[in-house]
Amino acid sequence: MELLKGKVAFITGGTRGIGFAIAKTYLENGATVVVCGSRKESAEKAVNELKKINKKFNIEGIYPDLTNYAEVEKAINDVAKKYKKIDILVNNAGVSARESIYSYDPKEFDSVMALNVNAVFYASKAVAPIMKANGGGVIINTSSMVSIYGQPAGCAYPTSKFAVNGMTKSLARELAPDKIRVNAVAPGVTDTDMVANLPEAMREGIKKTIPLGRIGTPDDVANAFLYLASDNASYVTGEILSVDGCARA
Ligand code: NAD
Repeated sequence: MELLKGKVAFITGGTRGIGFAIAKTYLENGATVVVCGSRKESAEKAVNELKKINKKFNIEGIYPDLTNYAEVEKAINDVAKKYKKIDILVNNAGVSARESIYSYDPKEFDSVMALNVNAVFYASKAVAPIMKANGGGVIINTSSMVSIYGQPAGCAYPTSKFAVNGMTKSLARELAPDKIRVNAVAPGVTDTDMVANLPEAMREGIKKTIPLGRIGTPDDVANAFLYLASDNASYVTGEILSVDGCARA
C-alpha cells in the first residue's frame, strides 16, 4: 500500500545517506519528492540515482543555501507554487564535528549550529503558513542518539541536536491547532558517509554497545520517517523517536 500517495515532500540533505533513503522510501510510497543538496552536482546525482530505481518517480533536486533564510523561503515558496502544496517537510541536513573544546574553533561551532539548528527553524518557519493554509502537514526533524546522552567530544553536535528536540517539542505544541504535526527521529549510529571513515576496530567496539548487535542502516531510519509522515501517526506529535537498536552510549 502506498502510504504517501498524492503527498508532496520537501527533504533537506536528501542527496545521500539517511536523507536519500527517506527520499527513496517516500517515492516508493507514492509521494512527489523535492530533495535539497548542498551543490548542483550532488542534487543532480541523487535525482539520477533515484530515477534509475524507477523512472516514474516524481523527484526533483534543488540546492538552496539552507543557512540563508531568504534562500530557504524562496525555495519552499517555489516548490509550493509548483506543486500547489507541501505536505511533509523533513529537516535532515546536518554536519558533525568531533573537536575537543580545547581546540574548538568558535567559527566551527557556529557553522554546526547554522545548519543543524538555524536551517531547521528557517525551513519550518517558511513552510508553516503553507501547511496551515492547506489544512495541515507534517514536519519531521533528524535528531540523534546524542541528543539524549551527549558525546565526549565535539560538543556543538549534541548541543545542536538537543536544540532540535526542543524546537520539535515546542513547535509541536504551537502548530497543533493548525493540524501540523512535528516530530523527530533520533538515529543511533547509522551506516552513512558520516560514520564511513571510522576504523573497523571502532565499528566493532560500537556494535558491542548496541543490544541489537549491528550498526543501523539508512533504511532502518527511513522506515521511521515513513511512519511519522503517514496517517498511521495521525495522533503522534511532539515525539522524539529513537531508532538506535537500543544503544545507550
Ligand atoms: P551524510 O553526511 O551522509 O548526509 C548529510 C546530508 O546533509 C547530505 O545530503 C548533504 O548534502 C547534506 N548537507 C551537508 N552539509 C550541507 C550544507 N551545508 N547545506 C545543505 N546540505 C548539506 O550524513 P547522514 O548520516 O545521512 O546524516 C543525515 C542526518 O542524520 C544528519 O542530521 C545527522 O546529524 C543525522 N544523524 C546521523 C547519524 C549517523 O550515524 N549517520 C546518527 C544520528 C543522526
